[in-house]
Amino acid sequence: MNNRQDVLVLENALVSNTYKLEVKAKYLIKVKSIEALKEVIKDLKKKNIEYLVLGAGSNVILAQYFAGAIIKLDLTSLKIEDNIVVAEAGCMMGKLALETVNKGLVGLEWAANIPGTVGGSIVGNAGAYNSELFDNLVSIKVLDENLEIKEILKEDIEFGYRYTSLKNTSKIVLEAKFKLTKGNKEEALELIKNRCERRKETQPLDLPSAGSVFRNPDGDYAGRLIEEAGLKGKTIGGAQVSEKHANFIVNTGNASSNDIKNLIRLIQKEVKEQFNVDLILEQEIIDWKN
Ligand SMILES: Cc1cc2nc3c(=O)[nH]c(=O)nc-3n(C[C@H](O)[C@H](O)[C@H](O)COP(=O)(O)OP(=O)(O)OC[C@H]3O[C@@H](n4cnc5c(N)ncnc54)[C@H](O)[C@@H]3O)c2cc1C
Repeated sequence: MNNRQDVLVLENALVSNTYKLEVKAKYLIKVKSIEALKEVIKDLKKKNIEYLVLGAGSNVILAQYFAGAIIKLDLTSLKIEDNIVVAEAGCMMGKLALETVNKGLVGLEWAANIPGTVGGSIVGNAGAYNSELFDNLVSIKVLDENLEIKEILKEDIEFGYRYTSLKNTSKIVLEAKFKLTKGNKEEALELIKNRCERRKETQPLDLPSAGSVFRNPDGDYAGRLIEEAGLKGKTIGGAQVSEKHANFIVNTGNASSNDIKNLIRLIQKEVKEQFNVDLILEQEIIDWKN
């Protein structure tokens, strides 16, 4: 697979993630075409090498070393025709939001500040401000377990709050098709600007994190419960409950995935003891079986 133009294989490479945890994988493979992706997976299966497709690594807590292959999709195109938008899985959500608004289309303004890819955001049904990615979704294209490309309609996918039935399957999201509505570009840009400023005021964007740690329980806010439990600023190793927003854990310098996991357990235990609420993780812990 090394001799294809559309594949880049790096050995013992650092895997980027927004927590800025130091993570290495035996292979980091960047693919620039679907054909290349198929070939890479065939090859990995033949050699019995475990693999995982990762987006921007903005919703995951990764362990230190993966003896398998991390695959990154360098497929980033975005096509807009009338009110139909087709984005490849590696396209960043910020680009999707801004380019659609710039074409006078509304519906994805909420996604402007999400530092993830379309692929990762489809799998987790990312959302904000009472909107979510599935609101405007028409269909997705995936590479399935038999390495066949299939189109799946939104109606055939189970989805809910930060959840879809695509999670933990071997389907790889290749692209997503959205239907947006025509709207007022200036108003939409103003909304994005205001929300961006509000995020800077209320979220610890100056420190590495992976966004909200827990889902909000019905009718309440995880951040409120964590703050009420007296856990703001609580630190384990290099992981800290943000002083600015209690539903964020930040890496203050040299956090390990264990620091973050231990802090998560402590928060869950305290909130359960004090309020009898089970906080459910929004982020995904990935512990490789090396
Ligand atoms: C500062 C900050 C703010 C955030 N704010 C929000 C917010 O407001 N709302 C929100 O919902 N999230 C938010 N997040 C979390 C995160 O950005 C989103 O969950 C985003 O959708 C994750 O996308 P990703 O590409 O980084 O996915 P990753 O973290 O790379 O992957 C997540 C999961 O998806 C799988 N995956 C990735 N790509 C594919 C693919 N192509 N096919 C199949 N599986 C795939 C991975 O294996 C993994 O299991 C925030 C994060 C940060 C750091």
